[in-house]
Amino acid sequence: MYILKMKGFKRLAKKLVAEWLYRLWIKNPREWSKGIVILMYHEIALRDTPVFRYFPVLCAAPESFSAQLDWLRGHFEVISMDEAMRRLTNGTGQDSRAVVITSDDGWMGFHRYGVRALRDRGLPATVYVTTSVLQGQVPWYVRWRLLLEQHPQMLALLARHVGRAEPFPNADSAISALKGLEYTRICSLWRQAVEIVPFEEGTLPSDWFIGENEVREALQSNITIGAHTVNHPILPREPEASLRREVNECKNTLEAISERPVLHFAYPNGDHSDLVIRCVQEAGYATAVTTTAGWNLPGQNLYRLRRVDVHEAACVDHRGRFSEAIFALWVTGEWERIKQRIGFLQ
Ligand SMILES: [Zn+2]
Repeated sequence: MYILKMKGFKRLAKKLVAEWLYRLWIKNPREWSKGIVILMYHEIALRDTPVFRYFPVLCAAPESFSAQLDWLRGHFEVISMDEAMRRLTNGTGQDSRAVVITSDDGWMGFHRYGVRALRDRGLPATVYVTTSVLQGQVPWYVRWRLLLEQHPQMLALLARHVGRAEPFPNADSAISALKGLEYTRICSLWRQAVEIVPFEEGTLPSDWFIGENEVREALQSNITIGAHTVNHPILPREPEASLRREVNECKNTLEAISERPVLHFAYPNGDHSDLVIRCVQEAGYATAVTTTAGWNLPGQNLYRLRRVDVHEAACVDHRGRFSEAIFALWVTGEWERIKQRIGFLQ
């Protein structure tokens, strides 16, 4: 009870601090950062759905996303990734305050709610697609999350299999450990796991990710299709042959479906290395985005573009309602700076 009260109090304090700063700051937009901010979304989902419950840090509610778009177009220029690339290359990016909207993986809710909200407002966005989802496969980290939530006894078994003395405390830490492994090893652990626990692969959600038709539909709506590998492996863990296959095959698949060049790439989990960057360049991509937080100015390496992660908690107040003050501070990176100074709000 005490903890719940503290949480509620912290959320209220956050809203009050955010609103106070926002009021001071909105009066003087010249002080705002300039440059290009690339926002990273994943899924747009209703709050009472399983996908929202299992992946709260990947989801925003449709009404929050619409409110965010309205705030963004009132304060920023909303531009495509192609335009961002031009401005970062020709040096004009430092004079503008522009935002690029992106979504990773190919989640169906982003297509269903997000693309519609963007289309209604005439705004562009880029969707980075993991191409195995187009054939109905559920990405490995989604499968593992569902299995571990439904069968928590696997937390101890999996820990033993990866040579850890203690059981994983939760699904998050288990998935973080899996991200340290090569993709073939993650797959072999999965095959062992589903022999141990009664987890029917047929019960995996079949409608959480888009198919080829949705890719074609999105292209009608000012959406740029980018690539996000075939299987969502953590690229620096992969042997070079597999790394090149992951980077090249998804490009070929998406170009065949979209009948246009696919020039933009997103590293799964943001993880990259010099070799990964070289493979992405050699595959013919012109830009690649990471998950390193921050804005982009001309001179920024186009294969290490920074992004700001956005999900529901980035924009709602203590009552779960959209707060433009909280969202504004989040997008501009001000909130991170404030949190570092005021430890209580962490
Ligand atoms: Zn991803």
